[in-house]
Amino acid sequence: MHEYADVIVIGAGTTGTSAAWHLARAGASVRLLDKGAIACGSSGASPGIVRAYYADLALSHLAAQGVRAYRDWQQHYPGACGYQRTGFLTGIPEHAQAATQANVAHLQAVGAALEWLCTEQMRERVPDLSTDGLAGAVYEPDAGYCDPRLTARSFAAGASAMGAVIEEGRAARRIVRQAGRVIGVQTDSGFIASGRVINAAGPWAAALAAECSAPLPIHATRHCVGIVEVCGTDQPMPGYCDRDAGFYLRPDSPGIYFIGSLSGAEGVPIDPDAFDRTFSDTQVLAYRDRAAQRLTRLLGAQPIGRRVSFFDDTPDGNPLLGPDPRAPGLMVAAGLSGHGFKFAPLFGQAIAQWVLTGEMPAAMAPFAPQRFID
Ligand SMILES: Cc1cc2nc3c(=O)[nH]c(=O)nc-3n(C[C@H](O)[C@H](O)[C@H](O)COP(=O)(O)OP(=O)(O)OC[C@H]3O[C@@H](n4cnc5c(N)ncnc54)[C@H](O)[C@@H]3O)c2cc1C
Repeated sequence: MHEYADVIVIGAGTTGTSAAWHLARAGASVRLLDKGAIACGSSGASPGIVRAYYADLALSHLAAQGVRAYRDWQQHYPGACGYQRTGFLTGIPEHAQAATQANVAHLQAVGAALEWLCTEQMRERVPDLSTDGLAGAVYEPDAGYCDPRLTARSFAAGASAMGAVIEEGRAARRIVRQAGRVIGVQTDSGFIASGRVINAAGPWAAALAAECSAPLPIHATRHCVGIVEVCGTDQPMPGYCDRDAGFYLRPDSPGIYFIGSLSGAEGVPIDPDAFDRTFSDTQVLAYRDRAAQRLTRLLGAQPIGRRVSFFDDTPDGNPLLGPDPRAPGLMVAAGLSGHGFKFAPLFGQAIAQWVLTGEMPAAMAPFAPQRFID
């Protein structure tokens, strides 16, 4: 006799574990499969910044809810997520000032906690921040960072406590359809029958979807984060990003900073199963030097670590979340394009709503796979 579950979730990153927890809590029988281990994909390498401001308002709306979800984790979710409140500054160049201030006003009106700071106010907050070429910044007091591994493990443990079956080391080989509809998943150790399958396999979601004759426009790109330690005493610092200067950073324990690149040129297309995982001290220092042009405390900071992983990018840089109209019963939750950790609680909730009611929340409409399907 076949194994059976109401819902099969493929991929135990932060997206899939959140889906499993929300579904189990709603009373569904859930099977969560990962070909490796919980958070062994990009979730496990992510510095887990949770912040709200993007030039894209739909994304900002959702990200603001994501920040609140992590801030208030203990009221809603199982275990812990490791939320640390640091605040966050997004440096804005002069040419984008008017549009950004309009966006900030709009987001404030719908309750998002963020404000516009002029350059003088930025320097009051961070005295060694160079504001050359900037008009100001968007400041988010509730932004911070979490521990994505801990988050995924907490969701998984919570799901398991409510009866979900979590199988690490069991790979989905094929999403199986009959007369068009999804009927289950062929794994490397047998078939599991289910009329609902959530494809949350990160960059591998594309190959799984293609096997099911429903290609998805997701490709993996390499993404690295350098970790440095400043010499001497350190001052408090919010997270910071600056698209023109090409970097983002977040503080960690005192004196330690995680620095990532915002230069598209470094997002090299890769095979997520076989790619170059070297990221030398010289490369970490190149990231440090870029960030030190803005933040002088980083001059002379020394490399102490690195994270080398990948993004699962879509053509417009936004997630794919929603039912795939070509394969009834199949939901895509992948292509998170390097900013998906902050959405995990909301995406899990949306997936559970779809399974229970057949409807997606309206706020998720901009992310529907339909936008890439002829
Ligand atoms: C270096 C780095 C920095 C980042 N910074 C941030 C940030 O600051 N803030 C933010 O919000 N986001 C950030 N992100 C992005 C965020 O971490 C990801 O979008 C998010 O964690 C993706 O989670 P996921 O569960 O969708 O995918 P993944 O974590 O990649 O999980 C996919 C899982 O699917 C499994 N799988 C694949 N194929 C199969 C199969 N056939 N059968 C079974 N299992 C399978 C894999 O083993 C894997 O565990 C960053 C990412 C990286 C790499």
